[in-house]
Amino acid sequence: MNSSITQAVIDSFKTEFETALTQAQSLDELELVRINFIGRKGKLGSVMGQLKVADLETKKTFGPILNTLKQSMQQAFNDRKDNLAQLARDSQDNQERFFDVTAYKPSAHHRGGLHPYTHVTNQIQNIFLSMGYQILDGPEVEDESINFEGLNIPKDHPARDMHDTFWLNLPGKLLRTHTSNIQVHTLKNRKPPFAVVAPGRCYRHEATDASHDYVFMQTEGFVVDKNISMAHLLETARKFLNALFGRKDLTVRLRPGYFPFVEPGVEIDIRCPFCTKGCSVCKKTCWIETAGAGLIHPNVLRYAGIDPDEYSGFAFGFGLSRLAILKYHIDDIRLLHTGKMEFLSQFG
Ligand SMILES: [Zn+2]
Repeated sequence: MNSSITQAVIDSFKTEFETALTQAQSLDELELVRINFIGRKGKLGSVMGQLKVADLETKKTFGPILNTLKQSMQQAFNDRKDNLAQLARDSQDNQERFFDVTAYKPSAHHRGGLHPYTHVTNQIQNIFLSMGYQILDGPEVEDESINFEGLNIPKDHPARDMHDTFWLNLPGKLLRTHTSNIQVHTLKNRKPPFAVVAPGRCYRHEATDASHDYVFMQTEGFVVDKNISMAHLLETARKFLNALFGRKDLTVRLRPGYFPFVEPGVEIDIRCPFCTKGCSVCKKTCWIETAGAGLIHPNVLRYAGIDPDEYSGFAFGFGLSRLAILKYHIDDIRLLHTGKMEFLSQFG
């Protein structure tokens, strides 16, 4: 009997093959096992080769055993192949079935950025700081007296109808309808001269559309000193708007406008910076309204304890939301108050 083929060798070879089958965790790994053991140049082939040159007795004893072994190895290989293929399909199914659309996916692209309001507010503040203004803030929940009476809008004044107000369940408290409440606080608490700019959120209880929302941003500004005139207001508006839109030659015009807290009152328009013959932004008029303004009404100064014969001042209320819309060509104000990433991610 050829000493190289014994039952022990065959048993050991069989065990080695079964271990390799179990260890193969993928169809690719399994294919390597096939090549290594039962392929044309595999280990089984070399055992068979040894049998061919063995003596007759060995051939008689181990021929049938090796043939059976060959068949059982092929069968074991096929079973393992089916098994691994099924596992691969199950894994794919599971991945699809249990895919969690809300799972956090780390990505280099999802960096935080500044809201367009923050960009515009920073620009406005920087421009006015460069002109020597102070930046002030004020309460969004306000007393009715400050929001209205302090600004020459007494009870039953028709102008109150222009301010659709969010009233709170607290007597005499409301959400401010304009940032002009900061003017009243400042006039009451500081001694002129002063120059202040105060951006902030305002609230009006009104229906929303592409150009109106119940929350919006304004920037209040005012200067109180001796001999302040409309010329100061016009030049300030001109400097500010040119700086904001990165221009030097923007045409600014004042139109008469009525606001109870200024006399005379004006509306500040700019020549449309985006066209020469009319466009969708200026609604084909070539002019864009940006602010209500004027000389502070003597009643407003008096209410705050400032003598209107000694001091005068101008005040303006720029629509900060409107300026943001113009600067960034936003076609719906409501987008500014959503959390839509597709929109917000454009502003870095
Ligand atoms: Zn235009």
